[in-house]
Amino acid sequence: MNEGVLFPPLPHRIESRAPAAARDISLQQFVRHATVTKDAGRVDACRVAFGERYDDLRRHAGAIKSHTLDHLDAYLDRFEAAATRAGATVHWAADAASANRICLDIAKRINAKVCVKSKSMATEETRLLPELEAAGVKTIETDLGEFIVQLDGDAPSHIVTPVIHKNRASVARAFVRDLDARYTEDPGELTMIARAHMRKLFERADLGISGGNFLIAETGSLVICTNEGNADLTVSLPPVHIALVGIEKLIPAMEHLPIFLKLLARSATAQPLTIYTTIITGCVTGPARSAGQRSGADADGPRELHVILLDNGRSELLRAPTRELLRCIRCGACLNACPVYKAVGGGHAYGSVYSGPIGATITPHLKGLHNYPDLATASSLCGACFHACPVHIDLPSQLISLREQAAQRHISPAPERAVMKLWRWIMQSPTRYRIASGLARFVLSRLEDVDIPLPGPLGAWTSCRTTPRPGAIDFRAWWNERERTKDNDHRPASDRGRA
Ligand code: SF4
Repeated sequence: MNEGVLFPPLPHRIESRAPAAARDISLQQFVRHATVTKDAGRVDACRVAFGERYDDLRRHAGAIKSHTLDHLDAYLDRFEAAATRAGATVHWAADAASANRICLDIAKRINAKVCVKSKSMATEETRLLPELEAAGVKTIETDLGEFIVQLDGDAPSHIVTPVIHKNRASVARAFVRDLDARYTEDPGELTMIARAHMRKLFERADLGISGGNFLIAETGSLVICTNEGNADLTVSLPPVHIALVGIEKLIPAMEHLPIFLKLLARSATAQPLTIYTTIITGCVTGPARSAGQRSGADADGPRELHVILLDNGRSELLRAPTRELLRCIRCGACLNACPVYKAVGGGHAYGSVYSGPIGATITPHLKGLHNYPDLATASSLCGACFHACPVHIDLPSQLISLREQAAQRHISPAPERAVMKLWRWIMQSPTRYRIASGLARFVLSRLEDVDIPLPGPLGAWTSCRTTPRPGAIDFRAWWNERERTKDNDHRPASDRGRA
């Protein structure tokens, strides 16, 4: 994997990568087309399934997660006890290094040579794959998107759709180059090529690794949702399975699972249910248990099941103002809805495993605001992410809070702070605002028809955009006219009649 994409030298500024992405027209087209389609699909799927109950439903889901997070210590203990009773081994990892060490110790003990891995944000976060490879364990990503990313030595660009930034032709080229396949751009054929390649590896694998979408405290169960069934194969074929899961993935009981499955599938891919939704409780060598759970006599599944509960900064996020961020179920809906994610050509510009609005909010907390000083500014604060979020996370407020902290701690650049001070001074007085906006209109109207880059720092704006033109009339004049006419056409008279 191109490590530098997701783990750049720090501090990382999104503005260092955004301009190149903004000028890459084909990248823009892939990302825009995919995200717009996904976002429209989500809206439609939620409207059809939930209608006016949608808002209540997402509030309810958010409340279940909040309750779990408020009592996380008790639920974690409950999960550990239930999972252990069911035959799993539960490990605790305070950080990425200890999570990887646990995985490597297990791989070494069983003398693992081939590992099949399903898509997992937690393993991306800990950079597990390169460590396994360095330890001599050949590791294959089995999610099709992640597999393509691995072949290309690239990095995932989206939480749910890692190859959102690629087209069929680039996938076809990778398969010709690395799998000795004939060139085809047919998605069905490409899938069959990958399938045939992976099946052989699944048969040889002695270790399977996955993440987990949910953990159920009551039963000690691990829930994995995929559309390709690859995670199920990583669990059922190799004799040993490791699931690396963030501690925030807990929900209290099985009865709470359906609401999250409904919301996750519709928010991520506009499906009523993810195609393979698997609940794993213990392993075949575990003690026989009550009806409905896997028993010791069950022939399928691993002989050893290890669940690693990963903290890696999450306990810090449990502090009250940021706790709601841990409600995230990684559906990716906020990425698809975000105009900035589209404008910067997908996730690579964010320089972190988590991109889009959720990445812009959690990364500075997990990795330090000083290391990602401008991520929180990569938002228009339009609120689209909040409306898309199925667990009702107030992402815009979290972004504003980060900006405030950056200003208070003098992390944002001095010129930016000076401009914001000036802006505040102007906005505090109607007279000053009127003079400043009149001045801006005058300057911008002089630039009309002159498509030249603006000077100094303003050049960052015009390097990939045309110089903004003022409207025919200013806002105040428009507002006054609207009040006077009180009709239903809210456009200025000068604009009426236009399509
Ligand atoms: S913040 Fe909300 S919308 Fe974004 S990935 Fe998480 S759950 Fe989905």
